[in-house]
Amino acid sequence: MARFVFITGGVVSSLGKGIASASLGALLQARGYKVRLRKLDPYLNYDPGTMSPYQHGEVYVTDDGAETDLDLGHYERFTGVAARKPDNWTTGRIYSDVIAAERRGDYLGGTVQVIPHITDKIKEVIQAETDPYDFVLVEIGGTVGDIESLPFLEAMRQLANELGPQRSLFMHLTLVPYIASAGELKTKPTQHSVKELLGLGIQPQILLCRSDRPIPENERRKIALFCNVRPESVIPALDARTIYEVPLMYHREGLDQEVLRHFGLSAYGEPDMTRWARIVQAVKQPEGEVTIAVVGKYTNLLDAYKSLSEALAHGGMAHNVRVNLDWVDSQIFEDDSAAVARLEKVNGILVPGGFGERGAEGKIEAVKFARERRIPFFGICFGMQMAVIEAARNLLHIKGASSTEFGACPEPVVGLLTEWLRGNEVEKRAAAGDLGGTMRLGAYPAALAEGSLVREVYAGAPVIEERHRHRYEVNVAYKDRLEAAGLRFSGMSPDGVLPEIVEYPDHPWFIGVQYHPELKSKPFEPHPLFAGFVGAAVKQARLV
Ligand code: GLN
Repeated sequence: MARFVFITGGVVSSLGKGIASASLGALLQARGYKVRLRKLDPYLNYDPGTMSPYQHGEVYVTDDGAETDLDLGHYERFTGVAARKPDNWTTGRIYSDVIAAERRGDYLGGTVQVIPHITDKIKEVIQAETDPYDFVLVEIGGTVGDIESLPFLEAMRQLANELGPQRSLFMHLTLVPYIASAGELKTKPTQHSVKELLGLGIQPQILLCRSDRPIPENERRKIALFCNVRPESVIPALDARTIYEVPLMYHREGLDQEVLRHFGLSAYGEPDMTRWARIVQAVKQPEGEVTIAVVGKYTNLLDAYKSLSEALAHGGMAHNVRVNLDWVDSQIFEDDSAAVARLEKVNGILVPGGFGERGAEGKIEAVKFARERRIPFFGICFGMQMAVIEAARNLLHIKGASSTEFGACPEPVVGLLTEWLRGNEVEKRAAAGDLGGTMRLGAYPAALAEGSLVREVYAGAPVIEERHRHRYEVNVAYKDRLEAAGLRFSGMSPDGVLPEIVEYPDHPWFIGVQYHPELKSKPFEPHPLFAGFVGAAVKQARLV
């Protein structure tokens, strides 16, 4: 039966609870344990699918089509365990289920309340499908002290009581700030944050203390004394040069040993950290560097492209190079046509996923530049759609070519999808239906054309499976004309209806994909498309 580690955060947000949880998962896995990670988010949205990336960063999509918090991306990248729908719950989704049950009459005669109905539901979802695992790590979004997270914390308090200490552990992430005027690290915020937890009936057993410098032994003892934990369980969590160093750093500070000691498993030797040491080595000592321009809309909010920037870094690891990212707001190409010259200096151009008309013309300009100047180009989802519109306008001279996402248009090269096949089932959407959870979501197969670049990139695989998240689709009615003009449709849905991949065979490296390959890339298993794209950029860098 699974043991549960509940991970909370205190003092301030943005301490990196997601990376901390993912790193503990990686450490336990490196000791041979089977792990699963989950995230509970206190906000009221059913899922983050309808939220702007400015609000909540990237929406991470799972194989089974759930739109989830970006921390699930960290979990997958650090452990390789594919996240699934039951691994991310929000307050909204919990309430939605409880209210649906109430309407069905499941509680007939009863008053439905936060305790026990909401808390019971939370306990149920935490424990669902956990039997095959040794450890289930459950991260609670937000900061202890928020009103919103109270039902989650109460549910965990109850659950820990029911499971007992042999099967439950609370780990709390806090901040130990350095106060320059005093020249000291301060432990008081941590003490207060733990007090807050104690007030809710929760005694954390392990404290992970974020700090920008080493925490002296006497400060560790002080925290231990005031917070009722063993001094060895006060784990300094110092800033890392790369997130992939965090598992190694936590191991050095004894985190995994403390967790195992708590569960009475401490006699089990050392974890195998070679994979992490190799990754950190590749990040710290690259043999060269390339610069990739990412031409998008949310370029001032890097959390919006979390998986993308990680996948590009993984692509660099595959070639032992550092990948510098030049984030370019595509609108600058619309305001000033000379601005596109900025792309002359880069070794590759990537147009990522996106929504809405703003900046679209600038992205089309960037595609044109990459195509004409023979600079390696990678278009992802919206980026692929813009590449196809660019081809229709500039190679086929269809002036009115556009996407119906921007309004009705005479030549819908990219159009709304209201019906498609998932396996043998038809999925249908009404054009004016709900926006939440109704895109083409999750894993779908694509058949790769023989002799294509993409088939070579995927090591000859005839069929691949990748994750999708989009409402519009390249219109297959334009396929023959575009192919005649040189744009090959090298990946199609198995029924031949949905274009999945396009490429220019006469270009050094130009690929557009309708799906999001960045979601499946891992540091120890760089995605072949990102490895291929960065490889092409390396070649380009040597040519100029
Ligand atoms: N906005 C486009 C669509 O909905 C592309 C989405 C994306 O890039 N994820 O089809």
